[in-house]
Amino acid sequence: MPIQILPARLANQIAAGEVVERPASVVKELVENSLDAGATRIDIDIDRGGSRTIRIRDNGKGIAKDELGLALSRHATSKISSLDDLEAIVSLGFRGEALASISSVSRLTLTSRTATQEEAWSAYAEGRDMDVQLKPAAHPIGTTIEVLDLFFNTPARRKFLRTEKTEFNHIDELLKRIALSRFDVSITLRHNGKTIRQYRASQTQIQKERRLVSACGQSFLQHALAVELEHGDLKLSGWICTPQGSRSQNDVQYCYVNGRMMKDKLINHAIRQAYEANLASDQYSAYVLFIEVDPHQVDVNVHPAKHEVRFHQARLVHDFIYQGIQSALQQGAMDDQQSYHA
Ligand code: ADP
Ligand code: MG
Repeated sequence: MPIQILPARLANQIAAGEVVERPASVVKELVENSLDAGATRIDIDIDRGGSRTIRIRDNGKGIAKDELGLALSRHATSKISSLDDLEAIVSLGFRGEALASISSVSRLTLTSRTATQEEAWSAYAEGRDMDVQLKPAAHPIGTTIEVLDLFFNTPARRKFLRTEKTEFNHIDELLKRIALSRFDVSITLRHNGKTIRQYRASQTQIQKERRLVSACGQSFLQHALAVELEHGDLKLSGWICTPQGSRSQNDVQYCYVNGRMMKDKLINHAIRQAYEANLASDQYSAYVLFIEVDPHQVDVNVHPAKHEVRFHQARLVHDFIYQGIQSALQQGAMDDQQSYHA
């Protein structure tokens, strides 16, 4: 075969292989877009585990009519414009790939209205590589993206979808993680027309704990120790489970760096060491932790799903996290003794 440039749709479908593994990955990309757009309310509607419908509605800033087509194009983003921006990412997205990828493997409708527009507009794309058709629509300020029949044109991928229940559980789990990253945003999740989760916007500590309970369960909160540490630009906060409680909460392991969900080896290592130092088994740990660091000090452009980060001062961050957990665990053990003797 001679060398040829791939048609846009095929190129997008190949790229989709990286971004869109299953319905939950679509939900992740879309909800992150809503958060980047400044939404304070996000409603998610799922039918049949997401294989039939994924609909996400937000009250963010919306997309201007003349940018709707662009939003669906590959490498089109409003979030970065230079290499400098890439050095200090503040948004969740930046690759400009999600909508192009998702629309290449589904029937996607994008409806949006900005504050300066009188009316909303809708763009429809079906495994698109032609110009997008725009239609007037009814919609308040914000955006709704509807993804129908995911993988309808890539049967090999569709075949890999698991049962409706399994796919929905992945979505539910993902939204827990997101709900814990943004206490200020209200999020609802419906499946087959039934409300499954309602995370209300929360400001006070009590409201936050209520959200923690909706996501992680009552027993996590019962065993939780508060973590709070600050050092220069570094900030650590959240909850960690007592070593005794961790055994039953082992699946609660949520960690965020500048609001981004992470599964990071360095962070895990620091946590495990802190447990060990408290004579607890390092086999079990449970936590919800938030790390804030100067965005210049961290590289998020390491992994396509952005699950991993690279800290410029890895050792410093490691020891800082270790110290934060260690002192929370020690404090917890001390409180325990006191209540024992009281
Ligand atoms: P990225 O998030 O990496 O920029 P996407 O393909 O996810 O790429 O989105 C492309 C662009 O479409 C975004 O940069 C943003 O300008 C716009 N966009 C997508 N979703 C929304 C939304 N819910 N509200 C407002 N703008 C959006
Ligand atoms: Mg995005």
